[in-house]
Amino acid sequence: MKDEGTNIGEITEINGPIITVEGFENHCIGDMVEIGKKMNLIGEIIKIYEEYTIVQCYEETEGLKLFDTVKNLKYPLSMELGPGLLNSIYDGIQRPLEKMEEISGSFISRGIKADSLSREKKWDYKAIIDEGEKVSGGDVVGKVEEYHIVHKIMVPFGNSGKLIQNNDKTQTIDETAVVIQTDDNEEKEFNLYQRWPIRKARPIRERYLPKKPLITGLRVFDFLYPVAKGGVVAVPGGFGTGKTVVQHSLAKFSDATIIVYIGCGERGNEMADLINEFPKLKDPVHDRPLMERTILIANTSNMPVSAREASIYSGITMAEYWRDQGYNVLLLADSTSRWAEALREISGRLEEMPTEGGYPAYLSDRLSSFYERAGYIMAQSSQERYGSVTAVGAVSPPGGDFSEPVTKNTKRFIKAFWALDADLAYARHYPAVSWNKSYSDYVENVKNYWHDNIDEDWRFNRDRTQYLLSRADELENISQLVGKENLPADQQLDLFAAELIKEGFLIQNAFNEIDRYSSPEKTSKIISIILKFYNESMYFIENKVPFQRIEELECVNDIKRMRLDIANENIEKFDHVIENIAKSLNSLRQQYRDYLSQRSRVNTVK
Ligand code: ADP
Repeated sequence: MKDEGTNIGEITEINGPIITVEGFENHCIGDMVEIGKKMNLIGEIIKIYEEYTIVQCYEETEGLKLFDTVKNLKYPLSMELGPGLLNSIYDGIQRPLEKMEEISGSFISRGIKADSLSREKKWDYKAIIDEGEKVSGGDVVGKVEEYHIVHKIMVPFGNSGKLIQNNDKTQTIDETAVVIQTDDNEEKEFNLYQRWPIRKARPIRERYLPKKPLITGLRVFDFLYPVAKGGVVAVPGGFGTGKTVVQHSLAKFSDATIIVYIGCGERGNEMADLINEFPKLKDPVHDRPLMERTILIANTSNMPVSAREASIYSGITMAEYWRDQGYNVLLLADSTSRWAEALREISGRLEEMPTEGGYPAYLSDRLSSFYERAGYIMAQSSQERYGSVTAVGAVSPPGGDFSEPVTKNTKRFIKAFWALDADLAYARHYPAVSWNKSYSDYVENVKNYWHDNIDEDWRFNRDRTQYLLSRADELENISQLVGKENLPADQQLDLFAAELIKEGFLIQNAFNEIDRYSSPEKTSKIISIILKFYNESMYFIENKVPFQRIEELECVNDIKRMRLDIANENIEKFDHVIENIAKSLNSLRQQYRDYLSQRSRVNTVK
């Protein structure tokens, strides 16, 4: 073991958050450092040369001086994972914002050390494995209640042996809860939390193809562009296209148990909105604050770029920890463009060769090392436990141009693309999800789940809907030239069906009590009624009944309003709509009875 001196270096150059240090020995990439004698700013070693080492600092470096000392802490940037995580707001390196505010006032000063998890709070620990049993890394040995979530306490990876102490006890996270006797007869004590380096994925036993849909409650996603639990999605969209509303809806209504929200906001007020608004959101399932199952990571513009760069790895590490306990976790990153800008800035200061748009050549590697950590897995443990991390990354391409480097590179790693469209947003068609630019590769994966559990016709209806939407786009172009009323009647009906789909199904008002969440049953009812109405109307059109007569039917208004009028709990009310449609069509049939029967006679004779 070398002496302490080899872990101390001194600053020879300062370039914003990038600091050159000389004097370290036996140091590794990823080691954490404390910079400046009194300041104790936190940083990380990112490059090692023979003569010197490059460190990125996670705090403002103003006031640092040449030859100030830097101490290598000899461990990688890690997260504390244990009870107390939920309902927390952290910065990118897991410092709790509330605690820091208490210490330093509303403008957070530098070098503050605050525990990520409270050391005072007591938890009611319940053992669930008997003493004397054999356990290994990842096994759940006990639990505590954290709000309404069961927080499972796992043996840290790399340990195994006989459980020799595991008692029910009310205790802080620092006190010993579990003692294991290893095969070498060594006694190892564990408390209620563990640490894990952020840049390394937590081990898993097996990875599976994700096949269960993440039910989002937003019809356009559940029906047209589904994502599976454990899937990866990008949501690109310019300013004002509804990214925030979509993310809030996902956090509130999707059937994930734990939410990790990473805000990489550029402007300070964007983050202030997030910190103010998120804690006010209600969890509709438990009728409790949503924060009780959420971890929020907020980076503001006065935090340096390096902290922003780290934050998405911090977030995914926390998500993996909950996944390992057997939960479905939804990770929302808003926005990965801001994160990529941080990467670009650091790379610029390191004078690396830029590629397209000024981003470093490793942009795509970094994106993949984030997205590939999502998935549906069996946890590393001798017990059988399944969990998932679904990653949804918002992208804000400048000028809405989807060919820019961040969107382009992101597309290589994601399998569902929810493109938010400025024109739709302008027309107040929300959620402004474009049916031309969006796609989902999860349709095949989840179709059996829908077929077996919710709607046998899901796949068929979905393809038909997608077809009608594209067909309507084509017809709209033509109708602009010749006028809608001059189109053949069957084409007018196609256009009309697409209008019903848009108005009565795709549009979903996030601020309407009934409409904001659509259960899978409601979703499939609405679309099947619209499609049935379209099919039946086609019979009249084929028999030369004027299109206007269909358009004027009384039931059309019901069809458009189903989403707003019928709540998830009143699914049986859809039967009234079906009856009304039958009545309207019957009366049309009556009016045209002679005409229709004549035509059918002609058809039969032919
Ligand atoms: P962004 O985050 O992309 O800048 P927002 O999510 O803040 O955009 O949305 C901008 C505005 O659009 C919201 O304030 C709201 O009025 C409207 N909006 C977005 N989505 C919906 C929705 N699903 N229902 C109703 N209004 C919406």
